[in-house]
Amino acid sequence: MCSDVLLIELECQHCELRFNICRKCYRGHVYCSSSCRRQAQLKARRKVQSRYRTSDKGRETHRCYEKMQRMSKTNRTMADTSTNTPPLRVILYPIVQNTKPRCSFCGVYGKMVDVFPRR
Ligand SMILES: [Zn+2]
Ligand SMILES: [Zn+2]
Repeated sequence: MCSDVLLIELECQHCELRFNICRKCYRGHVYCSSSCRRQAQLKARRKVQSRYRTSDKGRETHRCYEKMQRMSKTNRTMADTSTNTPPLRVILYPIVQNTKPRCSFCGVYGKMVDVFPRR
C-alpha cells in the first residue's frame, strides 16, 4: 500500500529561508544547505573561542585547539578550496504559495504535517 508522502516546513537557522522537506530527505535538518550549516558552525566556533580566551583554563584549551587545527590542516586545505566556488543551490523547489506543497529538495508532492509521526 502506498501512503501519502509527508512534508514538514522548516526554517533555516542561518539564512531564515523557509522550505519544505519530505521524510525521505529529512536528516534532522536545521539549515537549508550545507553552506549555511558551515557558515553557522564557523560563527558558533568563533563565539566559543572568544569566550574561552578570557579565562586561564580557556587559554589552555585554546592551545589544544590550535594543535588540533594544525593536525587537521590537510583536511582543511581541501575544504578551503571549495569555499571559493559559489555555494550550491540546494533548494531546487522553493515554497510557492497556493500550490500543492512539495519537498524543496527532491520535488515530491505531499501532505503538510507539523511533525513526522513515529513509525
Ligand atoms: Zn540557509
Ligand atoms: Zn524530498
